[in-house]
Amino acid sequence: MRPALDYNPTVPVLAAVMPAPFTPIELREFPEPEIERGGILLKTVYSEVCGTDVHLWHGRLSGVPYPIIPGHVAVGTVAKMRGPIVLADGRQAREGDRLVFFDVHRTCGRCVACTVRGTPTRCPQRKVYGITDAAADGLFGGWSEAIYLEPGVVAAVLPDSVAAEDYIGGGCGLITAVHAIDRAAIRLGDRVLVQGTGAVGLSVVALARLSGASTVIAVGAPADRLDLARQMGADLTLDIAKTTPEERHALVAGITGGRGPDIILEASGSARAIEEALALVADGGRYVVAGHYTNAGPSTINAHEHINRKHLEIRGCWGSEAGHFLRALTVLEQHAPTLPWRAIGARVYALNRLNEALADAEAMRLPKAIVDPRLRA
Ligand SMILES: [Zn+2]
Ligand SMILES: [Zn+2]
Repeated sequence: MRPALDYNPTVPVLAAVMPAPFTPIELREFPEPEIERGGILLKTVYSEVCGTDVHLWHGRLSGVPYPIIPGHVAVGTVAKMRGPIVLADGRQAREGDRLVFFDVHRTCGRCVACTVRGTPTRCPQRKVYGITDAAADGLFGGWSEAIYLEPGVVAAVLPDSVAAEDYIGGGCGLITAVHAIDRAAIRLGDRVLVQGTGAVGLSVVALARLSGASTVIAVGAPADRLDLARQMGADLTLDIAKTTPEERHALVAGITGGRGPDIILEASGSARAIEEALALVADGGRYVVAGHYTNAGPSTINAHEHINRKHLEIRGCWGSEAGHFLRALTVLEQHAPTLPWRAIGARVYALNRLNEALADAEAMRLPKAIVDPRLRA
């Protein structure tokens, strides 16, 4: 592959489109968008192919207006804008700035979810770049040479010390992990177990360690992700494919003084993981479910044994808010030099290679594929 010539905003913009579930990704040309006052046209540097994109391809998310331009997380540089535009840190955007943005937009701020419950991630008006924005509506996805940030999208300058590779390697998984860690309310010294070693689980391991957990156990697969989990801060990793539930129970009991983890965070999307966690978690503990982004079917729970008698707290964690995105940037600014977020983005693909990227992500050959629209295969 060779780097493309510099993107020329006067020619049509090339983007990779998912026409419908289980339909090959195709390249299409889009006109350059009309830039409204407060709008920004980003020249894409990187986007990603994550588990959500595999779910999109399998048609497992509701309310998706196919065809879409996937790629809900991206980093780019400002090619054009109609300012003045105030960024999240209070400074004004400038052409050439290296920007990142929060994928959720049009959250209304007026509905019951936004106001009464304080759960804007459940706002019925919210739209998400690369997921619930239609290709017919414009360049609202990162699998494209350019992305249009409409007025009101939360955008921030990527801190100088954070490489684009670190940001996109952390990507949506890191932002989701910041939210999950909030929900977990880890206290100093807590023993924590993380179920799942995909992009979310790996970041949860790192953030649990940074939050003061005394012990962090990661359960997942395959071996290269367990290696990454250890680099992210796990003390013990258990291969879900090479251990039985009984063996895991014994090993976890052994490392937690017989009590079980105080906190378990689920980032696996497995119905069986729920049953295992409820058996493992300590009395008076807490369980955060963040990985069931699609319907994995029912889990069997004995309310007496697993919830009531344990005095257990169970919390869901849906999506993320702009504050999680901004704090993920702060975390990266501080810790990207020492934690291997960029290693999560194992391989880089050009726009015309995204069917391969999806197949690789689907087969779990890598935790996350990186999209570089500047590449020409
Ligand atoms: Zn994602
Ligand atoms: Zn709302």
